[in-house]
Amino acid sequence: MNDDARVWYNKGSVRVKIPMIVYEMKLRGTKDQYRRLDEAIRTGRFIRNSIIRAWIDGEVKSRNEAYQYCKILADNPEFPWVKQLNSQARQAHAERAWAAIERFFSNCKAKVPGKKGYPKFKKYQVRASVEYKITGWKLSEDRKYLTFSDNFKAGTFRLWGSRNLHYYQVKQIKRTRVVRRHDGYYAQFVIDHSRKENKELCNKQTWLDVGLNYFYTDSYGNKVDNPRFFRQSERRIKKLQRRLSLTKKGSTNRSKARNRLGRAHLKVSRKRNDWLCKLAQRVIQSNDLVAIENLTVRNMVKNHCLAKSINDAAWYRFREWLEYFGVIYGVKVIAVDPRYTSQNCSNCGKKVTKTLSTRTHNCPHCGYIAGRDENAAINILSRALEKSKTTLGHRESNASEENPLCSVVETLQSKGTRRKRKLS
Ligand SMILES: [Zn+2]
Repeated sequence: MNDDARVWYNKGSVRVKIPMIVYEMKLRGTKDQYRRLDEAIRTGRFIRNSIIRAWIDGEVKSRNEAYQYCKILADNPEFPWVKQLNSQARQAHAERAWAAIERFFSNCKAKVPGKKGYPKFKKYQVRASVEYKITGWKLSEDRKYLTFSDNFKAGTFRLWGSRNLHYYQVKQIKRTRVVRRHDGYYAQFVIDHSRKENKELCNKQTWLDVGLNYFYTDSYGNKVDNPRFFRQSERRIKKLQRRLSLTKKGSTNRSKARNRLGRAHLKVSRKRNDWLCKLAQRVIQSNDLVAIENLTVRNMVKNHCLAKSINDAAWYRFREWLEYFGVIYGVKVIAVDPRYTSQNCSNCGKKVTKTLSTRTHNCPHCGYIAGRDENAAINILSRALEKSKTTLGHRESNASEENPLCSVVETLQSKGTRRKRKLS
């Protein structure tokens, strides 16, 4: 895994994107301890869902009221488990609920086409987490053990992983999460350490074109192939899905098969993420401006084609990494609306309609002739340059709405399967 898993979060009332470092380590404990973590995770979800419900019923109308509602829940003798969760952790989950509501509002305000993301109740999923702030947990002196001190009494876990927490001070750890996955339980430490790298200007600007045949083509004509493991994992996942469908409902074989499928998904997403992270860093390091097509997951249609869905997920993640490294290296990453870029003339700006099969752009207004893709590329780059002039210095505040407070790191990790995982 990469050490700079990124988290964007809001500082104070100003919406600024700050890349934070997230270190992840596996938690080694007993079955009983894991069961207690499960209870904490379930309670976090309960608080989030209760606040969404209260919002729908009109009882909660602001972030502050969400916090207050937390207290009401904790004092309610009907839900004794709420009080067992650390009080700041309860607040963290109220924030998650409010973030979902806010995201819905901002989508409505921005008139995002398609679904606006009306807040939904979270159902049980293997991949889930509980979030603590700065209390409710303690690192041992040698930083090899993590103890949870709230009333779920999960106790002390051994931390297992290659990351060295000694480099940072405990007070730099702003949040600690417990993440449950198909292959066990992990602790994530969100560390307040903004990374800045020096990069010299190289007078290169590029735009990246998404495709199914290649992972991307840049404006210099360089092509990056889809990595072979996309195909390989696609085959493996398909096989495991078939196996799962052959098992009997509720049987042990079924839960085993489900777990195997979940772990296969996990493995792909880890490989993919690693590959994307390195690729994005290289692109950022060798350009001063990177323009990409604005393909948000929101307007990507859900599809049943596995190859395509793997690609879409990869693209979304790639863009996140580009933006992350863009902030670190001071490189502008601009998402451009790709509409009409192939139709308009890049020389005179007039519209020259052409069908998909027309491969050359031949302008009747100014006589400019170019390849179809070349014309589109020039259009997109100039659109990006225009955009960078008007939004200079405001880029961060523009982009922040998509990733609200305490967004979960692995939002695209394995879905599909649930229950039963092999521990450690
Ligand atoms: Zn023209």
